[in-house]
Amino acid sequence: MNTKTAARLLVLSVFVVAQLFAAPRAKNVILFIGDAGGISTLNAASLYAHDKPQSLFIQSMPHFALSDTSALNGYVTDSAAGMTAIVTGRKTNNLMLSVLPDQDGGEGEILKTILEHAEERGLSTGVISNMAIWDATPAACYAHAASRKSTVEIFSQVLKPRFGNGVEVLIGADRIGLYAAMQKIGVNADEALQKAGFETFENPAAITTKTSRVASIYDRGQIGDFAPIPAVDKTLEILSRNKKGYFLMVEWDLHTDNIKRGLDRAIVLDDLIRHVASKVGKDTLILFAADHSFDLRLQGGKPGTPFAQQHAATVDAPPPSRPVLRMENKHTGEEILVAAKGPGAERLHGFIPNTKIFEIMMSAYGWR
Ligand SMILES: [Zn+2]
Repeated sequence: MNTKTAARLLVLSVFVVAQLFAAPRAKNVILFIGDAGGISTLNAASLYAHDKPQSLFIQSMPHFALSDTSALNGYVTDSAAGMTAIVTGRKTNNLMLSVLPDQDGGEGEILKTILEHAEERGLSTGVISNMAIWDATPAACYAHAASRKSTVEIFSQVLKPRFGNGVEVLIGADRIGLYAAMQKIGVNADEALQKAGFETFENPAAITTKTSRVASIYDRGQIGDFAPIPAVDKTLEILSRNKKGYFLMVEWDLHTDNIKRGLDRAIVLDDLIRHVASKVGKDTLILFAADHSFDLRLQGGKPGTPFAQQHAATVDAPPPSRPVLRMENKHTGEEILVAAKGPGAERLHGFIPNTKIFEIMMSAYGWR
């Protein structure tokens, strides 16, 4: 063996060894956001559904961390600043969507989102929510705005993406409000979506997977919460046709201002994550996070009687009887659970800032 061959062999073996020890990369990332689904909500949901603590699928995920959720200008975040941190890796002011404030508190630097990073690299992307499609959590993925209330400015960015060819699957509520707002600037939202390449469906249940770009802006008043499992199954069928991979964000509203509704939804989300985790391949990183916590507290209850029954019996009982679940209708600032499974999930541990969730997704794709 001459020295040249020996040198080549050495380089090759270093490369092979480096590959062996390199963390596996994720081809796909699915980010589940339980909006306001803090640890106390997960705890209550487990009791509510299973009469046992720590019985949710989310609570069985192998890797987890406790994430701070503070905003740039407050210890308690709203969904806009909370989601901005998760999808851009930067903290911003409350009410702001994927932009930093400028010196006067107006719209400053635009922050590229994980969805836009994926689009830029040719991956397929999806945004699914049981909230308004222009509401803070879905909007932070695909839009940039100084105010989360700028419905038209936000939704118009679906139609004119900054990176790649824009989001492929879009499912969310507020058909009436959004369509009326767009009409005010003379835009028929369905026609505009179709012109942008989307096949449109009034009900998420009606979505077909023949085309590569679908949108369903539905009327929650009429449909209620759509069934997320078939909708996500169809979404994954569409997105996984892209050999480069995909990014999907699914938000489920877990605010417990109505305790029963919030806990019922937490179970629906948990069932969805269990289903998706059983279905996707080893090349997919699944993450669960809340954008912030909520002031729901377990103050009583005992084994032996169904927990839901104990809650129902005490929810409206007058003092001095105490409810098993006490609720004050407010976001709260303590850490939330982030849980993950799949390639890159091992990076998730300890106490982290919410901005680290972005870094973990970027690293999982191999983009950091
Ligand atoms: Zn929120």
